[in-house]
Amino acid sequence: MVVTRFAPSPTGYLHIGGLRTALFSYLWARKNNGKFLLRIEDTDKARNSQEATEAILKAFQWLGLEADGEITYQSKREDIYKKYIQQLLDEGKAYKCYMSKEELDALRETQMANKERTKYDGRYRDFTGTPPEGVEPVIRIKAPLSGEIIVHDGVKGDISFQAEDILDDFVIARADGSPTYNFVVAIDDALMGVNEVIRGDDHLSNTPKQIVVYEALGFDVPKFYHVPMIHNAQGKKLSKRDGATDVMAYKEMGYLPQALLNFLVRLGWSHGDQEIFSMDEMKELFDPKDINKSASIYNTEKLDWLNAHYIKNTPNEELTELLTDFGVVLSSHDKKEILLDALKERAKTLKELSTLINEIVTTPQSYDEKAVKKAFKGNAIEILETFANKLDAAKELHLPSDYHHVMETVVNEMEIGFGKIGNPLRVALLGKMSGPGLDVVMSVIGKDETILRIARAIEANI
Ligand code: GLU
Repeated sequence: MVVTRFAPSPTGYLHIGGLRTALFSYLWARKNNGKFLLRIEDTDKARNSQEATEAILKAFQWLGLEADGEITYQSKREDIYKKYIQQLLDEGKAYKCYMSKEELDALRETQMANKERTKYDGRYRDFTGTPPEGVEPVIRIKAPLSGEIIVHDGVKGDISFQAEDILDDFVIARADGSPTYNFVVAIDDALMGVNEVIRGDDHLSNTPKQIVVYEALGFDVPKFYHVPMIHNAQGKKLSKRDGATDVMAYKEMGYLPQALLNFLVRLGWSHGDQEIFSMDEMKELFDPKDINKSASIYNTEKLDWLNAHYIKNTPNEELTELLTDFGVVLSSHDKKEILLDALKERAKTLKELSTLINEIVTTPQSYDEKAVKKAFKGNAIEILETFANKLDAAKELHLPSDYHHVMETVVNEMEIGFGKIGNPLRVALLGKMSGPGLDVVMSVIGKDETILRIARAIEANI
């Protein structure tokens, strides 16, 4: 069974790069009817916070990415790590190192002066003497001193690391007894049964060390997929300004979870030239072997395009619910279907949609000067008054077509073109030249409000 995991360190919010590897891991587990596990790597007490953990869980909930089973918290597993440290000590695969900080610094300086790689020199590896007084030892693992460590990477192929170039007997437990990062990651992945690790390639340099731990403890090494980073349009690492922000900020900006996930799945993975993937399709088609070898480029227009697609295809009832987060309450509006049908094709985000709705349902507070100049020429006011009177006299006005019919009557009776009524009416109703069809606007705001807006515009002497 394929078991994948996402293992965030709760040092801040869940960001877009982390979410992408989480999504890949989730999809691969689902495709194989396997398991997708969540592990919170919260051992760094100074940098981790409960709020950050909650923020990550909240983001997962919003996106509908469900993890299987209990969440694993590293902070609750100290005893397990201690047990394995002891096991390695007992087996002679790890040892206590009494080197002081001063000695370590001195060693570094010499190595740097000799232009050598800075590394621990193994001086306590076979130490059998009396330990120095007053030094709490760290525990170091006996790493191979020569030979190669091969990472069989599902994205990059086999990557060979020369032990003497990259390894030393690295610390697995600090002087205070706390275990180190690469040690616990390997133990947790092994004990959780994780056999496919999909993560950012910024972790690639950790992998040989983790393999040393797996091998020392006799655990099976999982299959690794190191995913190239996401870059901005300039080819640089994604920064906050480019969109590398809190995943929940995308919710606030009005992006739909489906759009964000669809956007992310295509960052570094492709299936032919298909762009739109439903969750079911993603689960069916995703395969980490198709992950690109080079960095992917974050493209906001693409995200907007996808979001527009998903907004357009979201049922109105669901949109009504989603829009409440943006201060738009349409649940009891009798024309909400007409309104949403007309506007949902025009919005890139829910926020934009809420603005478009507000521009219709609230009376304009001012009138765009240029639009006024263009529209209020000749007998515009007379035309508007005639139209308002006709509306007043009309009995049943509900649908856009009812209003269109009244406009037509005026156009025919006054023998004018449609623009002669359309332009001033648009400015009177919306304060500007843009917006959806006027018949839709009038149907949504109703006859009384239409007449009122016309009167106000005329009164404002525009
Ligand atoms: N906790 C690590 C991070 O947040 C991920 C560890 C891993 O995926 O192996 O970057």
